[in-house]
Amino acid sequence: MTSQEIKEQQTGYVLQSWSKQKGLKPIPIERGEGIYMWDYEGNRYTDMSSQLVNLNVGHGNGYIVEAIKAQAEKYCYISPSYASEPRAELAKMLIERLPDNMGKIFFTNGGADANENAVKIARQYTGRHKVFSRYRSYHGSTFGAGNLTGEPRRYPLEPGIPGFVKFFDPYLYREKIHFTTEEEASEYYIAKLREQIQYEGENSVAAIVLETITGSNGIIIPPKGYLQGIRQLCDEYGILLICDEVMAGFGRTGKMFGFENWGIKPDLVTFAKGVTCGYIQLGGVAVSKKIAEYFEENFLSCGLTYSGHPLACAAGIACLKFYDDAEILDNVNKAGKILAKELERLKEKHASVGDVRYIGLFSAVELVKDKKTKEPLVPYGRDTAGVMKGIIGRLSAKGFMTYSHENMILIAPPLIITGEQITEELVKLDEVLKEVDMEI
Ligand code: PLP
Repeated sequence: MTSQEIKEQQTGYVLQSWSKQKGLKPIPIERGEGIYMWDYEGNRYTDMSSQLVNLNVGHGNGYIVEAIKAQAEKYCYISPSYASEPRAELAKMLIERLPDNMGKIFFTNGGADANENAVKIARQYTGRHKVFSRYRSYHGSTFGAGNLTGEPRRYPLEPGIPGFVKFFDPYLYREKIHFTTEEEASEYYIAKLREQIQYEGENSVAAIVLETITGSNGIIIPPKGYLQGIRQLCDEYGILLICDEVMAGFGRTGKMFGFENWGIKPDLVTFAKGVTCGYIQLGGVAVSKKIAEYFEENFLSCGLTYSGHPLACAAGIACLKFYDDAEILDNVNKAGKILAKELERLKEKHASVGDVRYIGLFSAVELVKDKKTKEPLVPYGRDTAGVMKGIIGRLSAKGFMTYSHENMILIAPPLIITGEQITEELVKLDEVLKEVDMEI
């Protein structure tokens, strides 16, 4: 097919996620290699978002491709009730990389069903039904995960599931109360959450679900003491802590899992994306030894046809080995320092940049109309004029590929990117921001 035919058939027959369908102009991609992709005309694009923050090792990773091929030659599928080498090996490798309180893995197809199954497991284990999650969060778009989600992608699912309670996140850049330290802010948020749990009835709360670091809603990094405070609250009330590591996991923040940055141990960890880097889709829930032990004698009421798909697990094993062999965490920490420096420079220089937030290679640029008032460049949930889409389009025309959410540009390149490549790419962002400065 020609590039034009692909585009026409795609827009003619495929419903594209999160979009008004009319006027869509998807770029047909012919091939990818590392952090780059090429269209059929030979134009090169740099992937500055690792696709949907999942293609952590970039395109064309030979290790992963070979592992999938080798497994495909043995068998492509075997039901979850059989023992399968790639499934067994990946589960063990994951448990070895998780904190020492973790016991077993329940595999899913992606992140949304990982979160839904984590909630089901927490309800079965605790015998309680309520689940707390935060407003500025995204946990997936299926019915259950979409109800855990706090931001506007939840609205089409309303009225929501009874017992799904929302609480405020520590979004300090936009907090109206002035705190002198991060610890003070954490104390405030934890105290409010404690109060809310009491009002809801502490004995009815099964779990608190958190993106350890809020991802698509703007890389909101927990203030010092916050996650430790949540952990304590959970322990005090017998509530399970579910950390959603779908975006933050697998090296993105410079640690294997995001929560390691604060030294806490969750009861359940949900993961997807970076476990296979999207070479084949896979997700899962890691549960603590205590929870795993509970299901020795109690029936686990969870199941999926593709739980632990052998091809996906083979990809996962190769992926985890690649993270180790290529010393990915070292690269994230090195390249992350350069990204941080460049982002701070952009914040200093541009009137339209209200805030930059980053950890490892996980970052966001928050755009404002006015630095002092912090008025967002587009109103929350209502960018009807398509201002952010326009900015993303201008970046794309320069070959800088990423996406936005609300008034934020997400920057989360593949974890193999070099410092020089980051500097080279951020020049393009600098140029577009200069134009935005003139328009505000
Ligand atoms: N949780 C988080 C933090 C996510 O960012 C996402 C997707 O972006 C999901 C869950 C849902 O994952 P999936 O799209 O694989 O269902």
